[in-house]
Amino acid sequence: MKIAVVGTGYVGLVTGTCLSEIGHTVMCIDIDQNKVNKMREGISPIYEPGLDELMIKNIEEKRLFFTTNHSEGFENVDVIYIAVGTPEREDGSANLSFVEQVAKDIASHIEKDVIVVTKSTVPVGTNDWIKSVIQNNLVNNVKVDIVSNPEFLREGAAIYDSFNGDRIVVGAENVTAANTIGELNKPFGIPVFKTDIRSAEMIKYAANAFLATKISFINEISNICEKVGANVEDVANGMGQDNRIGSQFLNAGIGYGGSCFPKDTKALVQIAGNVDYEFELLKGVIHVNQKQQEILLNKLDDRFDSLEGKKIAVLGLAFKPNTDDMREAASIVITKYLIEKGANVVAYDPVAMENAKKILDLNVNYASNTIEALKDADVALILTEWNEFKDLEIGSFEKNMKLPVIFDGRNCYDPKIVENFHVEYHSMGRPSIK
Ligand code: NAD
Repeated sequence: MKIAVVGTGYVGLVTGTCLSEIGHTVMCIDIDQNKVNKMREGISPIYEPGLDELMIKNIEEKRLFFTTNHSEGFENVDVIYIAVGTPEREDGSANLSFVEQVAKDIASHIEKDVIVVTKSTVPVGTNDWIKSVIQNNLVNNVKVDIVSNPEFLREGAAIYDSFNGDRIVVGAENVTAANTIGELNKPFGIPVFKTDIRSAEMIKYAANAFLATKISFINEISNICEKVGANVEDVANGMGQDNRIGSQFLNAGIGYGGSCFPKDTKALVQIAGNVDYEFELLKGVIHVNQKQQEILLNKLDDRFDSLEGKKIAVLGLAFKPNTDDMREAASIVITKYLIEKGANVVAYDPVAMENAKKILDLNVNYASNTIEALKDADVALILTEWNEFKDLEIGSFEKNMKLPVIFDGRNCYDPKIVENFHVEYHSMGRPSIK
């Protein structure tokens, strides 16, 4: 099939590349000329393991193309994917202006019947609105079917997830459109779950809200564990072995971040509010998540009379490992606080430093590796659980720091191993080692 994918961010570029890998001809469209120039050369503008290789392969095999020109991009396509951003507005609702622009671009350029597939995460009812925007602006007499196909990939494992996802959700207004999108995805070998459009839109929000709930739940348990002398890791293990609960998303820490959970949970509270329903549980989940970073900072404040002039090594800036995505990363709030308190912050992240420099306080300094960050530091804060930090010898803290005090916001180390070194170790929901 000939497919256009509009928006080549973390979702669009992976979607376009993987669709070309399974044999479709894919035209990726973005408004950012610099990005498009890079992508044409097989260079991904985002860090995503395995993506460059797959792009180069499919560019060379002439199945994957890039353009900024919508009329060129939509020429003769059977299916158009919308994968532009739906960022958070100040009131927490989803900003649909990018989606609206794409709908208008589709209407003014298509010359044959198409199926428009929405991958962007959009509030319930948005696909009906997208269809009306397209139909109200159509230049040619063509038929447009709408399909909601929410995306569940994880940044950092996006290629793997595209070929090994648990399900592909297809919400369609008619059987023909649903079957066409099901067929298009068949080579992925992933079960297709077909439903109506509104249920598909809701599945995405409900799934993210549920995962966020699991995280905030274990974080609250973790806070209680600290007070009653229990170990949250053992508690999570013991809970997770129950199949009804499952072991994933039960890692206590400094909360979730990224481009999805924070905005999608707030958007779902808004969606509920719009129909006079107060989603009390989800409001609690959001509040707990915001509190979780403060808990780490409170521990730090309790440990030191003042942070003024202290050298603080911050290990990890990305919102999670294996990505360069800094959106809603815990490091943003935490480094801001440390700088306000007069600390000398030296940060290191394996891939997110270039993006971090655009966002973090200008007074944050950057090291070129972990050891350089730790050199003569008074405190080390671990904010992202990169393998590089997990694999670090605990002795490196002892050897390089002025005062080997570690605050581990992601529970990277086994306290039983840490005990063998002369370090002070504070983690989340587990007894401290002094
Ligand atoms: P992103 O910000 O990384 O990328 C969006 C891209 O769209 C940018 O490259 C931008 O230049 C381009 N764009 C904007 N307007 C355009 C237009 N009119 N024509 C062509 N291109 C245009 O966003 P993302 O992280 O890929 O997220 C996209 C959507 O997918 C969002 O709704 C998000 O909630 C959802 N989602 C994201 C993830 C994730 O892990 N990032 C996972 C699941 C779902």
